[in-house]
Amino acid sequence: MAGKMQAAVVTAFAKPLEFQEWDIPTPGPGQILVKTEACGVCHTDLHARNGDWPLKPTLPFIPGHEAIGIVVALGAGVSLVKEGDRVGVPWLYSACGHCEYCLQAWETVCGEAQFGGYTQNGGFAEYLLADPNYVAHIPKDLGSKEAAPLICAGITTYKGIKETQARPGEWIAISGCGGLGHLAIQYAKVMGLQVCAVDIDDGKLEHARRLGADLVINAKSGDPAALLKNETGGGAHGVLITAPSLPAFKQGVDMTRKLGTCVLVGLPPGEFPLPLFDVVANCITVRGSFVGTRKDMAECLQFAAEGKVKADIELQPLSAINTIFERLERGDVPSRVVLDFTGSAAEKSAAPAKEAVPA
Ligand code: NAD
Ligand code: ZN
Ligand code: ZN
Repeated sequence: MAGKMQAAVVTAFAKPLEFQEWDIPTPGPGQILVKTEACGVCHTDLHARNGDWPLKPTLPFIPGHEAIGIVVALGAGVSLVKEGDRVGVPWLYSACGHCEYCLQAWETVCGEAQFGGYTQNGGFAEYLLADPNYVAHIPKDLGSKEAAPLICAGITTYKGIKETQARPGEWIAISGCGGLGHLAIQYAKVMGLQVCAVDIDDGKLEHARRLGADLVINAKSGDPAALLKNETGGGAHGVLITAPSLPAFKQGVDMTRKLGTCVLVGLPPGEFPLPLFDVVANCITVRGSFVGTRKDMAECLQFAAEGKVKADIELQPLSAINTIFERLERGDVPSRVVLDFTGSAAEKSAAPAKEAVPA
């Protein structure tokens, strides 16, 4: 498909994105071209823009790994999807399919995995390429804007909760109640868990209550782990740390009950001190979790298609991306901003579109 597209491009780390006109890419063999309808803005996009992590993307690149759109062109040999299908292009952009991890259906840790909006150009553009083997298939009852946050924030927290191995009736602590956390609370409730929401912002905690949290703790007031242990009779069976902030990590381990599991998904740059004696003597598991597999994707979308989980979205045009990043950096985004490429917010004005702002 010849023609030009608008894209928001990282040309230098820690600098505002540049708006550029790029050629619409042509799908090569085995690839598809997707016309973007909506793309969520994840805190990971901000880490990518800032070059926060040891593995840095090659400049220039287009971020965005919560893109939902319509397949508009197929490269040679593609039969898995057809033109007109609605797909999501996630963080796990592709994997090799045959290494020891792929063979165990742990494609998320494949050594040859490519990452959407990071090692491959992503959804902060009107079109993007994708690998049909790894796209998300969006259930028909789910709108594109509502689906966008699920293909990263949703899958990551759904998988992370499973990885805690907490069982119905047990306690889970969700640290960080933003884009990831507000969905984590909902998945955890649907999975029958008692939820303690932890954040440093009272507005986020009020929202957490409305989403069903049984207990909320402001990590800035007092000792959150002592408070949680007191309220739950020994701490949370599972802890999911989504906060992009290092102090939350030691706190999360401290919140974990004996024999419990603390799952790390937040990715602030740096390291945190592990209280070795407590972890050993209390037989605590600390484990990382990275997005989710294609099976996790189908499951997490199904919950939303059935109306059991719903992303709170604020629609904005692509042109607002630099302001959105500033707000994300300040912790000033209530849940998830979704870039809207179809509706009124798609107009090229940076004026905030106040549609669907969470109550
Ligand atoms: P976000 O900015 O939308 O939300 C972060 C929330 O954490 C905010 O509500 C903020 O108030 C809260 N917070 C900040 N400091 C805190 C503290 N000390 N204690 C408790 N809460 C605190 O970010 P997001 O999009 O939800 O992403 C969160 C993190 O998860 C980022 O680091 C991102 O890169 C990472 N992430 C990881 C994966 C994965 O696969 N492991 C996937 C997606 C995102
Ligand atoms: Zn993400
Ligand atoms: Zn592999």
